[in-house]
Amino acid sequence: MTKLTDKIVLITGASAGIGEATARAFAREGAKLILVARREEKLATLAKELEEKHQTETLVIPLNLREFKQVEVSLKNLPVDWREVDILVNNAGLVRGLQKLYTMDSEDWHEVIDVNVKALIAVTNSIVPGMVERGEGHIINLGSIAGRESYPNGAVYCATKFAVRAISRGLKMDLNETPIRVTSIDPGLVETEFSVVRFKGDKEKAKAPYQGITALRGEDIADAIVWSASRPAHVNISEMLIFPTAQASSTQVHRE
Ligand code: NAP
Repeated sequence: MTKLTDKIVLITGASAGIGEATARAFAREGAKLILVARREEKLATLAKELEEKHQTETLVIPLNLREFKQVEVSLKNLPVDWREVDILVNNAGLVRGLQKLYTMDSEDWHEVIDVNVKALIAVTNSIVPGMVERGEGHIINLGSIAGRESYPNGAVYCATKFAVRAISRGLKMDLNETPIRVTSIDPGLVETEFSVVRFKGDKEKAKAPYQGITALRGEDIADAIVWSASRPAHVNISEMLIFPTAQASSTQVHRE
């Protein structure tokens, strides 16, 4: 087992869903957390909760990950006590709309590609050089079943998650002469704010993907992330595909 006590874990997208659940799960293990997202208040509330429950030390960094320069400046200049990031969870991500690629608004596809791919690279490039220097670290990327099979009306999102898969595999190769681990966690349907963001706040539309099934919860994915991080140093969980029991593929979901 790799002990997680006092490990520094940086989580992007920690203000909601899988990222928030992951912060709670690492806090239970005694880790120190760097929490990144745009909504500072949500991060501050989470940090307070974790400090009260587990005496967790946290560093809140409000950032719009689309501002790539700012991302690099902030993450390359972390306060001295927070510089040695042990585990990077590249979790922030989103989808916009459920529609044919050629009908998509360009602002939407730019946003999805910016956050899911370019920001992930910017964050990785800011943090991984330190890991290489120290000869230890673990990068955990949130992929998706959408990175393994495209589905109708989701081409751009799927493209970004195919890219994440390529990045996870390529990064592992780039780091193979080091002890640094790379993991891709690829969920199916998880009930978070993801669908609400997809439909720009339309809560009725957002419920549809989860109707008639017991979807995964953020906690289920957090569990897999923490499990991967806590394997012994010689074990690299390369990828994990996690579905709700009622889901068999991107498009096959059994609804009661
Ligand atoms: P969520 O509940 O909507 O959370 C997304 C997180 O990303 C939020 O904390 C959000 O924070 C952050 N984020 C989005 N845009 C950002 C930006 N420009 N700058 C900084 N942070 C930003 O979604 P989730 O389901 O937890 O998704 C987490 C990851 O899992 C994503 O990569 C997603 O693609 C992947 N995934 C989700 C599912 C699913 O069914 N839910 C399935 C497979 C994979 P702020 O809004 O505060 O900035």
